[in-house]
Amino acid sequence: MNIFTIFGDPVSHSRSPLMHNTVFKALEVKACYTRTHLRDGSKLRDAFFAKALCGANVTVPHKETAYSQCDEVRGIAREIGTVNTLILENGRLIGYNTDADGFIAAIQSFGKLSTALIIGAGGTAKALAIALEHNTITPTILNRSHGRLEYFREKGFDAYDWERFIPRSFDLIINTTSAGLTDNELPIPAELLTALLATSKGAIDVIYGKETPFLAEVKKAKLPYKDGSDMLLEQGVIANALFLKNAASTQQIRPIMQRSFLY
Ligand code: NDP
Repeated sequence: MNIFTIFGDPVSHSRSPLMHNTVFKALEVKACYTRTHLRDGSKLRDAFFAKALCGANVTVPHKETAYSQCDEVRGIAREIGTVNTLILENGRLIGYNTDADGFIAAIQSFGKLSTALIIGAGGTAKALAIALEHNTITPTILNRSHGRLEYFREKGFDAYDWERFIPRSFDLIINTTSAGLTDNELPIPAELLTALLATSKGAIDVIYGKETPFLAEVKKAKLPYKDGSDMLLEQGVIANALFLKNAASTQQIRPIMQRSFLY
């Protein structure tokens, strides 16, 4: 039996066990995916080997420390500096970031995009900014505070805090903050959001499974929108193909994993 898990703190809300176990069952793969509540991220590598895992996902707040504990990091994760997927390969821990490509797959339904405003400057914002740039969509970053903007400026992106930002038109507005996850807050001041929505073309919130105050405003402005469910699905599809060492294609995995969203 191959064992997989998701490491996080908190982790009890995670849909990943259901998503991955649905695929393993349907494809008759002898594998099981569990949850692991890990408080101390520095113990992630030890926990991975102690549990004799074949692979894992990593969620908040351990994606950066996971990156530093890999023997090798592949693909876009090298540029981003965070990993959300770990694979055991010949006794070595290999790290990937499937959030980036998962997000790009999720926004295909918006059609051709040239510019995007990323609200927030945390780990998810980093992954999305790099992914957008790889796909010739110019990202601009807008964050509540100044401290985290340096990373983006060093990469050559326009990055502002609320005070220095002047609203303009964007093809897509993306909320990557946790505002609205457990509270009733908007990710930016209401008047700023109203000005942005009046001139922009669409919006996405990476939070899934609920209508955040951000998405409620987007709806009022009658713009095309989606929550983070498609991103969650797509990052999971790519991770599952890695877990199965490509024994199944993402085209085979996607409709099966999608069924788990109905449960
Ligand atoms: P981080 O903690 O790394 O970053 C949080 C960012 O949000 C910071 O820039 C912070 O600003 C800002 N922020 C937090 N609270 C508020 C608030 N009340 N108002 C304005 N700004 C705020 O988080 P992550 O990037 O790791 O994750 C962010 C969200 O993305 C989570 O809700 C997570 O669940 C979701 N997510 C969804 C995925 C999916 O598949 N759908 C995949 C990955 C993540 P400051 O710098 O000022 O503190």
